Amino acid sequence: MSFRTLRILLLLALFAAVAGMTYWESMVVRNWLRPLEVAIYPVNGDGTVEVGEYIAGLKQDDFQEIGRFIAIQAERYRGKDLPPVNIRLAGEIKTLPPAPPEERHSALSAILWSLGLRHYAFDNSPFWGSLGVVRLFVVYHQGEEGKPLQHSLGLQKGLVGVVHAFAQDRQSSQNNVVITHELFHALGASDKYDVANQPIYPEGFGDPGDGPRYPQREAEIMAGRIAVRPDAARIPTGLEECVVGYKTAWEVNW
Ligand SMILES: [Zn+2]
Repeated sequence: MSFRTLRILLLLALFAAVAGMTYWESMVVRNWLRPLEVAIYPVNGDGTVEVGEYIAGLKQDDFQEIGRFIAIQAERYRGKDLPPVNIRLAGEIKTLPPAPPEERHSALSAILWSLGLRHYAFDNSPFWGSLGVVRLFVVYHQGEEGKPLQHSLGLQKGLVGVVHAFAQDRQSSQNNVVITHELFHALGASDKYDVANQPIYPEGFGDPGDGPRYPQREAEIMAGRIAVRPDAARIPTGLEECVVGYKTAWEVNW
């Protein structure tokens, strides 16, 4: 066997290993065969001292309601057999994740961004320790009152997401809603709101049952908002105002 042939065979073996690992990771995680491991990596989105201090003050406890929410919601669909959800606060990452492409419809820019995000995740987290772990990079911003942050984004394939969050204690409940939404994307769930950010009926409604359609009292986690009127929806105050709807439950194999 020539050296050239050997090199090609080695490369093919490497590609097969990476593809196999990605498949294995998604399969194990999305089939709930073992505890769900989530690592939260905070990132200083403004580069300011204030945001840095906020990040330094974060505690693992601040995110545990996400695990409790998942356990309670899963019980409605599959009883108490869901493996535990372990949420770990990892160390701060000093570089920003790649910015998402501007043109939403360019397939090439989407692929490049997805490769860039994979590379960023590879660079900033331990390789073996991250296998089968959902990695969420939470970018904190000071933000302005009433001004929405950049849209959070996750990879459709692969267990990586970027969440934009407010560096303010009184926003931590709403931050956990956004983090949970992104986590469900990593688990295979799709968005359930329309172009006007209105929850889609019925799958984006907290309670799409027989009762009156409006106003809703809870938000479906992948709709992200509570439909109060056909043309109005409000952001939930926290996970206590959210539920996992039937379609999301089906998408994440509950
Ligand atoms: Zn989404």
